Amino acid sequence: MSQESAIVFAIFYALLCFCIVYPSTEFVSAGLTVDHVFSSTLGSEAITFVQHHIRRTSLNLMVHSLLPAIYIRVYYMQFDAENDDTSESSVVNSHPLVWAFLVLPAVLLPGLVVAAIYYWSRNQWQNHPIARQLVKFARPDDPFSDWRAVAANINDEFRRDDKVVIRMNPISRVVTTENWVIKTSSYWINIARQGETTMVAYKSDTHDVSQDAFETVQYVNIAVIPLRKEIKEFSIRINALHFRELQDRINSQITVLSSVKFHRSVLERFVDVFKDQVAQNPTYQLEDNSIMENSDNCFACMQARPNIKICKNCLDVDEVGQTLSEAQRCQSCNCRPMWCIECVAKWFASRQDQSERESWLQQKCTCPMCRARFCVLDVCYVQQRQ
Ligand SMILES: [Zn+2]
Ligand SMILES: [Zn+2]
Ligand SMILES: [Zn+2]
Repeated sequence: MSQESAIVFAIFYALLCFCIVYPSTEFVSAGLTVDHVFSSTLGSEAITFVQHHIRRTSLNLMVHSLLPAIYIRVYYMQFDAENDDTSESSVVNSHPLVWAFLVLPAVLLPGLVVAAIYYWSRNQWQNHPIARQLVKFARPDDPFSDWRAVAANINDEFRRDDKVVIRMNPISRVVTTENWVIKTSSYWINIARQGETTMVAYKSDTHDVSQDAFETVQYVNIAVIPLRKEIKEFSIRINALHFRELQDRINSQITVLSSVKFHRSVLERFVDVFKDQVAQNPTYQLEDNSIMENSDNCFACMQARPNIKICKNCLDVDEVGQTLSEAQRCQSCNCRPMWCIECVAKWFASRQDQSERESWLQQKCTCPMCRARFCVLDVCYVQQRQ
């Protein structure tokens, strides 16, 4: 193998290894991961969660430990095929430093891993580090007699629909069930029991996801601190958008340190400004209260009660007092109150030019039902007759 092709091969192999060890989201969704390829031998995660992860982490360790040995094997195969002059190849083959630092560890590593997995798997994985972690939850005063009872409880709770699973990155997830908080990663799963754990959001960081710096994504780091010393502390890092979802599944309050500030999205900030303006507009006096009493919830969110009516208030002039042409004027909308203020604000924002956020409030929009043009001055809170 020439020097150039050896380098190309090394780079290609390094990339391949990276994709195997740390698959990108595209690889994960395409099913090109170790877990997915060997899914039949791993057992179903949905049915036997703990056993699945014991096998999965062991398999990852096995496959990843083989990567250096496969590289050396392929490299020497190529080298031997291209060099008939055995004296030259034997120089490389027999170089003691190459052997000591590359070949020997590469061959020993999978050997050690196989021996460890063999030892762990005896007595139905009783020796596996994850099983040994679970046994710490089995105490005389607990309802669990041994690690299998703990595992059965986790499996049972994972099968229910009320679990919350949040993906942290392509190789890690946080799974929250009624009583457990679990972080899965390539070679290990961390487990904490909710009743005896405190959770502290201690750090947040924000990243731009687009050039205009309006769209940002915020991550929150949360320490999961078991009260019992023998159980290891761990930390999870989730998109701030998932924080509420996680908090709702955790039985106790997640402590948020004062250094952690949740950023509000552009849309949330717009909704606030929109509401402020609407609060200054005249209210709409409802003639007949039964319209509201008989009406359904907001058509968009299906949750809040409709509380606004589009009702033309604005004068037909632009910012500098020039009279607007017919085509630019707001129109009257005769729809009954059907939307809540939040949904109207979001609808309004969604109809605007995303690149001109500063001028959204001055723009117009059309009623979702009758398509009458309106501006923020025409959005009125509904006031019911006493
Ligand atoms: Zn709504
Ligand atoms: Zn309308
Ligand atoms: Zn208007």
